[in-house]
Amino acid sequence: MSLSQGRQYLAIPGPSVIPDRVLQAMNQPCPNIYDGDLIELTHSLIPDLKHVAQTKGNVAIYIANGHGAWEAAISNVLSPDDTVLVLATGRFCIGWGGMAENLGVHVETLDFGTDSTIDFEAVRSHLRADKGGRIKAIMAVHVDTSTSIRNDIGALSKVISDTGHDALLMVDCIASLGSDKFLMDDWDVDIMVSACQKGLMTPPALSFVYFSDRAANARKKMERVSSYWDWNPRINPNLFYEYFCGTAPTQHLFGLREALDMILEEGLPHVWLRHEVLAKAVWASCEAWARAGPLELNVSDKNSRSRAVTALSIGAPRGMQLRKWTEKEAGLTLGIGLGMNTEKDPKAEGFFRIGHMGHVNAQMIMGTLGSVQAGLIALGIPYGSGGLDAAAQVLANVD
Ligand SMILES: *Cc1c(COP(=O)(O)O)cnc(C)c1O
Repeated sequence: MSLSQGRQYLAIPGPSVIPDRVLQAMNQPCPNIYDGDLIELTHSLIPDLKHVAQTKGNVAIYIANGHGAWEAAISNVLSPDDTVLVLATGRFCIGWGGMAENLGVHVETLDFGTDSTIDFEAVRSHLRADKGGRIKAIMAVHVDTSTSIRNDIGALSKVISDTGHDALLMVDCIASLGSDKFLMDDWDVDIMVSACQKGLMTPPALSFVYFSDRAANARKKMERVSSYWDWNPRINPNLFYEYFCGTAPTQHLFGLREALDMILEEGLPHVWLRHEVLAKAVWASCEAWARAGPLELNVSDKNSRSRAVTALSIGAPRGMQLRKWTEKEAGLTLGIGLGMNTEKDPKAEGFFRIGHMGHVNAQMIMGTLGSVQAGLIALGIPYGSGGLDAAAQVLANVD
């Protein structure tokens, strides 16, 4: 008998749960797009978007998903025959690099596999060997959503500056912005891309390219940039339509305004801390379950784990069976295994992911973990005891 009636819960790593406040803010007719409140509202987003990324730099908004922001970022600073260094810790950086390659950019990849962070020594020696300054930019992902690896971007930035190399540092924070702590200016990041449907709790369709003055200078030296992706008019619009190179995404702007208000009301440090505690509750359960049976956390070192998503392996086809069970029987949708395909498991059916980003609280996490455990029991998958207790202890003992 299915017990899935009631509110469905999407615990995938994006899109995340959209708060009712955001949905209600979006539920309005289109406003005047020539003058009035919408223009004021749009101006007001810019400082708050910068606050979330902890930057005094620039931010351009695109009507696009995260892939659009990827292409926008590339288009403003890289030309055909330029070279980028891709630091791969999962599917996403490889995807971003692939997009650069399709635009004629030469891509060099250091691939650190699917369960390790960036190896700084490898980066250091690769950059030191680049005496001629062939590498124009370095692409990294803060949180790779496929592996749930979290890279230390501040440390990476120091490694780059230690070598004296002047490549631009480009970072994908699509999964981490508004969940995992990110300090764009302190960490000296030149370009950061993000999107609205994960930690920023807004339905997919807006993305952001943040950039430093150094990146703005690199843009100035470009021979040609496509009008649509050009970030200059978007950060300095003479006319309102230039913010978006066309009609504004009216309802999405209402939604994003509301989501940013929620983040500001809670306070960014609390948002980060809440994600930290909830992530620890997830890990506590998973670690207990992993003590017996096939379940394993993909990332063993806690410091290298995302606070927004947890990737798990459980052996094919159990990952797929568990996802199907929780969706059909409990109303809980878990994330699929992504980028974990092997010859033995071509569809990555031995993996699943728990998204815990954005609009999540303690009861949602306990409901998710309880439903996963019910699925393990129902499917006869062995697991270590005490998982729910361990999560409850984390939540009970937070100051
Ligand atoms: C979700 C995600 C993307 C892709 O975003 P889309 O909106 O699906 O295009 C890219 N990088 C990371 C790290 C992501 O989590």
